[in-house]
Amino acid sequence: MSNDLANAVDRSAFFVGGDWVPPAGTERVDVLEAATGTAFGSAALAGPADVDAAVAAAGDALHGPWGATTGAERATVMRRLAAALKTRAKDTAALVSRENGMPRSLSIGANGFSPPLMLDYYAGLAEGLDADDVRSGMLARVRVRRGPVGVVAAVTPWNYPQALAAMKIAPALAAGCTVVLKAAPETALDAYVWADAALEAGLPPGVLNIVPGGREAGAHLVAHPGVDKVAFTGSTAAGRAIGEVCGRLLRPVTLELGGKSAALLAEDADLDAFLTALPEVSLANNGQTCHACTRILAPRGRYDEIVDAITDTVRSLPVGDPLDKQTRIGPLVSAAQRDRVLGLVTAGRDAGGRVTTGGAVPAGQERGWFVEPTVFAGVDNDSAIAREEVFGPVLCVLPYDDTDDAVRIANDSEYGLGGTVWTTDLDRGQAIADRIRSGTVGINHYALDVLGPFGGVKASGLGRELGPEGLAPYVDLKSVYLTPESR
Ligand code: NAD
Repeated sequence: MSNDLANAVDRSAFFVGGDWVPPAGTERVDVLEAATGTAFGSAALAGPADVDAAVAAAGDALHGPWGATTGAERATVMRRLAAALKTRAKDTAALVSRENGMPRSLSIGANGFSPPLMLDYYAGLAEGLDADDVRSGMLARVRVRRGPVGVVAAVTPWNYPQALAAMKIAPALAAGCTVVLKAAPETALDAYVWADAALEAGLPPGVLNIVPGGREAGAHLVAHPGVDKVAFTGSTAAGRAIGEVCGRLLRPVTLELGGKSAALLAEDADLDAFLTALPEVSLANNGQTCHACTRILAPRGRYDEIVDAITDTVRSLPVGDPLDKQTRIGPLVSAAQRDRVLGLVTAGRDAGGRVTTGGAVPAGQERGWFVEPTVFAGVDNDSAIAREEVFGPVLCVLPYDDTDDAVRIANDSEYGLGGTVWTTDLDRGQAIADRIRSGTVGINHYALDVLGPFGGVKASGLGRELGPEGLAPYVDLKSVYLTPESR
């Protein structure tokens, strides 16, 4: 089977049991180029029978040779998989940019090189799983054995499809689990880069199975009796539904959900430094980023100055083809997403918000799903535009009175995923960061790191991915109580 991405825009078979398997049904999706709105590929979408086959293959692989591998053996395969992904990184990045509009400059890291990096990192941790931990207990010794949790259902969204898949696949493989990846229809094509790489790397059949599909396929997978653990990234609404199912089934689940994070500009903030970082911190992936700091908190005394400076910066960002190196803001993923964002902008205006730049489809860019990067001033934190996750290039600048007020506003959100503090006093920055109720906070930047556990509190999710903590949900612990004479 071809692993040439130039030929890979028509994917008619699923990757199940290490082979290309034709779909049981006839459902397909046209994958649209976000920048033009025209179809550039298509893929089969999974129905229940396809999901059943994928889960069965993952179960067989778990109980086959893969289940008996050592961590060191898995690490070797994972490093080969990482190398195979690395050779495809540039093509993968471009493919995702075409699918979801992510500027290529971001996609190259997020979709191209971060998955192999995560595989290499977790390969190192896999090697550390081999030796059982023997503890001198109060009564006798206890041997703690670490095995795989089992078959993992990985359900991913379209916004960072490769990185978010890797955040699940890499620790799952390290622990010895097997995986069924249910990718989103919008990014069905790039999901198969994993299949191409898995074949090249010699990943044993059934260890990774790929069945792109819609919500129903996801729901079928999550509730499947053959699944032992669910790892989900997506909207809070879907996360609640999945959490309910997993609660009923007593099935372990990690949920990485939405956000509405704050960039808190202290009185002594270096405004130029913030403005330089703003496109990454607040508008990454055209605002389609769960941890984007879309609420900017400005001291009341500097409010007008800061609104003007942010407006100028945002207005100057080049909007265009995501494959163009100069582009900072690309199109949104779909017509539905563009219309939803424009609807929220209209509602924000109707509620009295003042749009200082943007707020419409850019002139001359009616093809594709573009929205001008947009800044709202004169809104308060109770307004819908400041509370709801817009998932587009829309920012609110909110005034605050003092540090306590700023922290209060930052924490006055349903969500708690990201956040940043901007100050020239780094001790003060850390003290403020510690008061922000959120899974992650950056000081004078926001740099997600494979070593740092990533996830949210409140409606932003349950559990963590990345870091050693991101391996734990895939590891099953068994305590073996030894008698004194056991060796
Ligand atoms: P979505 O929830 O609609 O879909 C995400 C995935 O879940 C898709 O594959 C979809 O088919 C599937 N799905 C939807 N409903 C399901 C259900 N009931 N059961 C099983 N599967 C189901 O989200 P989206 O619009 O594709 O993605 C955007 C959302 O993802 C945003 O809210 C964003 O904040 C969130 N997100 C969170 C993180 C994070 O790490 N916290 C990262 C990226 C995106």
